[in-house]
Amino acid sequence: AAGGLNHMLDVEGGANEDRFVETTQEIAKRVAERLGDRVRLETPVRRITQDDHGVTVRTDSGEIRAGYAIVTAAPAHRATIEFEPALPEQAEGLVRTWRMGVLSKAFVAYEKPFWRADGCSGEAVTDTGTVFITFDVSPGPGGPGVLMAFCDPRVFDGFGPETRRDLVVQQLVDLYGPQARTPIDYLDHCWGSEPFAPGGPHPVAGPHTTVSYGKALTEPHGRIHWAGTETAGEWAGTMNGAVLTGQRTAENIATLLSRDVRQGASR
Ligand SMILES: Cc1cc2nc3c(=O)[nH]c(=O)nc-3n(C[C@H](O)[C@H](O)[C@H](O)COP(=O)(O)OP(=O)(O)OC[C@H]3O[C@@H](n4cnc5c(N)ncnc54)[C@H](O)[C@@H]3O)c2cc1C
Repeated sequence: AAGGLNHMLDVEGGANEDRFVETTQEIAKRVAERLGDRVRLETPVRRITQDDHGVTVRTDSGEIRAGYAIVTAAPAHRATIEFEPALPEQAEGLVRTWRMGVLSKAFVAYEKPFWRADGCSGEAVTDTGTVFITFDVSPGPGGPGVLMAFCDPRVFDGFGPETRRDLVVQQLVDLYGPQARTPIDYLDHCWGSEPFAPGGPHPVAGPHTTVSYGKALTEPHGRIHWAGTETAGEWAGTMNGAVLTGQRTAENIATLLSRDVRQGASR
């Protein structure tokens, strides 16, 4: 659904060709600016109840009433919300078995992208040590040079910040030579430790999960509809997939709301 493994990993002509220079966080910030106080931060949803006329979403800071709800949390996180009426067995099975992988990420900055002078692209794949993929994510040719490193959480997340940094820098030295020893900045994040993020971009679904429970990824539960990248038919596990499901679900809800208005007018 993403054009094959090579396409997913490729830079030129592949999924890793483009990135947001101002960071992807900027997208969320600008959308939030337009939505104003409709965006409620630090407000986990605890319970969603529904009746014939709409849904009631309960949070720690109050209730919200709406015609429909779209839940975009990853399937495993649906379990953090209590549904009334309860989810059917197939949807419960999905929540139990659709576990996410875990991935950690480090950014290492240098005065210049020194590896380019040695004819290196900054892209590496290795199966030894903590770092298993690197990409050159430098903002421009004049510097600074920035290497992004995907790190294996099993040999990364359990260490303190200094050890994590040492592990990453040492491996960049092994890959790119002694100039990698002296970065000017370093930042990492263990995504698996985030309570509300899935932890990794792709699921590690057990045998038979898709066959037994896959339908529940997208099948609405009454007035509750599901979106988010895990529900994507194409580009699941990426931001592209997430946006496609947002559009799909918003269109579905718009159709339902128009129908409700028509039915209300004809009564
Ligand atoms: C390390 C890493 C690297 C990645 N790299 C790339 C990349 O290079 N390119 C790419 O396209 N994708 C990448 N991804 C994947 C990409 O980040 C996801 O596919 C995308 O963010 C999914 O968007 P989403 O809206 O479906 O889910 P999310 O962004 O996870 O949004 C779901 C939201 O639901 C909220 N939520 C959960 N439970 C509740 C609750 N009970 N109440 C209220 N809110 C709740 C969460 O706080 C979250 O904000 C990467 C992911 C990781 C972890």
